[in-house]
Amino acid sequence: MTAPALEVEDLTVHYGGVCAVRSVSFAVPAGGCLGIIGANGAGKTSTLKAVLGLVPRTVGALRLDGKDLSRVKARDMVRHGIGYVPEGRHVFAGLTVEKNLLLGAYAQKWNAQTREKLAEVFALFPVLGEMQHRLAGALSGGQQQMLAIGRALMSRPRLLLLDEPSMGLSPKLVEEILAALQRLSADGLSMLLVEQNAKLTFEATDRCLVVENGTVAMSGSSQELRHDVRVRRVYLGL
Ligand code: ATP
Repeated sequence: MTAPALEVEDLTVHYGGVCAVRSVSFAVPAGGCLGIIGANGAGKTSTLKAVLGLVPRTVGALRLDGKDLSRVKARDMVRHGIGYVPEGRHVFAGLTVEKNLLLGAYAQKWNAQTREKLAEVFALFPVLGEMQHRLAGALSGGQQQMLAIGRALMSRPRLLLLDEPSMGLSPKLVEEILAALQRLSADGLSMLLVEQNAKLTFEATDRCLVVENGTVAMSGSSQELRHDVRVRRVYLGL
């Protein structure tokens, strides 16, 4: 049997006296997409940051493709194959679109494959190709989100972590981001998607966790969860 892309066991995050994530465990199947939904402050961002080692955490096990990463420093995670699209995009506004993308490949040797990857990102998001010589600060919010995803893809990750890629976007742009995630999924990329937008998450993922107050309140297939009465009321507003 193939090992899951990512296995996380017993993950806990404290900020001083505040416990933001309490003993959370999950797995992202190889080539699959796992979603984590939850309200503001539920602990979604802390979970992603804890996987990367960006916040102090304790963890029972953290494995990527079966390899222990629990002691790997945050700055080395990209070399181990984890790409990260942070909440709020954080593109370099004063650099061109192309330079932002090439910075995403900083951990690799720049070679013909870097150009190939750039072409793949432009195929996924044609508007980035059209605007490659413009400053990133001149892009719309949706285009900046595409740039943040494209930049993470430039490192050729085996697993992509995405933190609220739909935040602040119009419904049309959310659809475009969803289409891109579905295409990446169809290409076999393993993904962990953290979102407040439950509708998008159920469409983009195979399985989901619902986190509340730092713990896993529910988990199951996205198909099942989207029909759950409580999920419909609390997270879909139906
Ligand atoms: P959002 O949708 O707002 O990003 P979230 O589900 O991602 O919410 P987290 O940002 O992980 O939630 O926050 C979980 C809890 O930890 C919240 O109570 C938050 O106030 C707290 N918290 C987050 N970051 C810190 C920090 N650096 N210091 C202290 N408390 C923090």
